[in-house]
Amino acid sequence: MGEVWNTGAMDVSKAVLITGCSSGIGRATAERLARSGWTVYATARSTDSIADLGRAGCLLLELDVTDDASMRTAVTSVEQTEGAVGVLVNNAGYSLNGAIESVPLDEVRRQFETNVFGLARLSQLVLPGMRSQSFGRIVNVSSMGGRLTFPGSGYYHASKHAVEAISDALRFEVQGFGVDVVVIEPGLIRTGFADAAVGTIADRSEDPEGPYDGFNQAVAVTTAGAYRNSIARTLGGGPETVARAIEKAISAERPHTRYRVTGSARLFLTLRRLLPDRLWDAMVARTFPQPRP
Ligand code: NAP
Repeated sequence: MGEVWNTGAMDVSKAVLITGCSSGIGRATAERLARSGWTVYATARSTDSIADLGRAGCLLLELDVTDDASMRTAVTSVEQTEGAVGVLVNNAGYSLNGAIESVPLDEVRRQFETNVFGLARLSQLVLPGMRSQSFGRIVNVSSMGGRLTFPGSGYYHASKHAVEAISDALRFEVQGFGVDVVVIEPGLIRTGFADAAVGTIADRSEDPEGPYDGFNQAVAVTTAGAYRNSIARTLGGGPETVARAIEKAISAERPHTRYRVTGSARLFLTLRRLLPDRLWDAMVARTFPQPRP
């Protein structure tokens, strides 16, 4: 923790609680922060999946971000040992894919329970402890998809747009209590994310003659391919790239409000800012076939 800022107080907890550590970005972040000397509470729905993080110096807790009792138990457990959660990394999440009309709303509710309400509830649970020690940092793993939208991932992007809005409001509301809120916006990151996204389409028992079947299959192929093509190879990154940005965000005395991670995020977000909607749609149509009767 060499570069870390000094809060001035002796008894301030800087213990880090991270959600979704069984793979990808959460796992890489837990490993990196533990290596750097942070006190890390790595969490997952099942601690069996993170046993090796225990051997790497992390403390392990079970935490399902769709289960209120599980979230309360985990936060209480950190508070009993550390006094407060000093840093919360809201990382757990996945992408629900499929055309808007074709996705059952129960699946959409599950998407928001995980990506949005879990993040909001955990923030509510850690804030009293952060406020009482006049220090805290909440790091929300959003996505470049929190500021742009690709067809076939509308509900995922809606969930990340919600994360961005909640983070903007929260940043203003808690700054006076000594709590910083930071948004991380990764681009294409090679993790289990793409397979999970493709799985949300494959799992859906759809009418093979339905109006969106061909489109949804194309979204699955494009999603899988996007993480293997030349753009991903040159402008994407591994999960450790995001872990590095998260460490930067929690180590800085005055963190940026947003960290874009990888060239793919910077490229697509710049394009989205420059192109009017119809031109953006035309660009996207080169990648996704437009559903037609
Ligand atoms: P990943 O390897 O699939 O990891 C997702 C993690 O979320 C897993 O550990 C998973 O745990 C966990 N999770 C899912 N539902 C959960 C729940 N209800 N409670 C607790 N944990 C749950 O994907 P990743 O790329 O590391 O994704 C991490 C975050 O980065 C997500 O928020 C994602 O939206 C964001 N992101 C990823 C990319 C990318 O290209 N990879 C880009 C932008 C943003 P289980 O093993 O228990 O399912």
